[in-house]
Amino acid sequence: MKVLVLGAGQLARMMSLAGAPLNIEVFAYDITTGNVVHPLTQQVMLKGLNTAITYADVITAEFEHVPHDILAVCAQSKKFLPTTEAIKAGGDRRLEKALLDQAGVRNARYATVHTRADLDAAITDIGLPMVLKSALGGYDGKGQWRLKHTDEVEGIWAEMADFMNQTDNQAIVAEEFVPFDREVSLIGTRGKDGSVAIYPLTENVHTHGVLSLSTALVGNDALQAQAEAMFEALADTLNYVGVLAIEFFDVDGQLLVNEIAPRVHNSGHWTQQGAETCQFENHLRAVTGLPLGSTSLIRPTAMINILGEDQLPTAILADPHCHIHWYGKEKRPGRKMGHINLCAVTPEALQDALRNVAQHLDPVAFPALQRN
Ligand code: ATP
Ligand code: MG
Ligand code: MG
Repeated sequence: MKVLVLGAGQLARMMSLAGAPLNIEVFAYDITTGNVVHPLTQQVMLKGLNTAITYADVITAEFEHVPHDILAVCAQSKKFLPTTEAIKAGGDRRLEKALLDQAGVRNARYATVHTRADLDAAITDIGLPMVLKSALGGYDGKGQWRLKHTDEVEGIWAEMADFMNQTDNQAIVAEEFVPFDREVSLIGTRGKDGSVAIYPLTENVHTHGVLSLSTALVGNDALQAQAEAMFEALADTLNYVGVLAIEFFDVDGQLLVNEIAPRVHNSGHWTQQGAETCQFENHLRAVTGLPLGSTSLIRPTAMINILGEDQLPTAILADPHCHIHWYGKEKRPGRKMGHINLCAVTPEALQDALRNVAQHLDPVAFPALQRN
């Protein structure tokens, strides 16, 4: 089977690595250059999107901000999964919120803002503090504002109005600020036959809006059941095929959906070492119509993102708990360059391993480890 991925970043790369043992060939369409490349070497393989679409058995995406004209061409081929609607919902917070409401899953109160009058109305309805997010194009906490006091409205509105002018069809979604205890996410797969395979919840730490540490949760049956019910509601509503990630706020044991990602997700990278079948393989299994693989936890596992760094100390490379995954990207400050999956026999041993690893790592490149 040949799978074309829209987007040629680390997620396509890890799909390619996971596909090889199953004889699934993955190739990637680089949306910024228009080249069809090999996901590992970035070497150009085919000329143009149309050739790639003809060559592919299945088409999928590694990110949600795919231009709609490209999605339309892929949809026309009838080879695209999960569905172009799911990708669009992941890339536009207005569609995403409508989907959450339609599926009946709890989410933060919100309002759509185009004008200053909309913003004032949102402040009255939702109250302060609030989080303001760009409807289109947001990721890693970019395109967001925190509005805490009424005296900040003037300045933030000026910035937002300027921001909206830069992109067609842009808007702002105003959300109540959720005083969460922690953030968790759920990665699940839905097959063509409607069967589902869902991983244990993951607890996530974000630093300056970027995911820095994920830990697979052990136990937590009540929370897991809540999350799985919301997964099934969303996946069924979308008639979804593939891996779908859902980010939640945990407020006193009650989950609220923050956002969805219609693709494999950074908070699921731990599954490469911590689960029977990793998220990348399960996504490929789903879209190619194979039976889904087991999502059982093998052992307590955490994932640390490597941000803006292209070297690791020998102590980390030699640590038997650590599994290193580089993305082969050029070094830039704050950029996701790779990740480390840490495995241990017990949750306590995993926390010890994290503390030990923290001693060897720069807190700037590994911000989440400072609290361990
Ligand atoms: P991602 O890279 O996960 O796609 P994103 O840019 O889409 O990020 P969000 O996930 O919406 O952004 O927000 C980034 C982070 O900001 C969240 O993980 C959370 O820590 C915080 N945050 C977002 N919305 C709220 C909210 N309504 N209340 C409190 N904190 C929030
Ligand atoms: Mg997002
Ligand atoms: Mg997010």
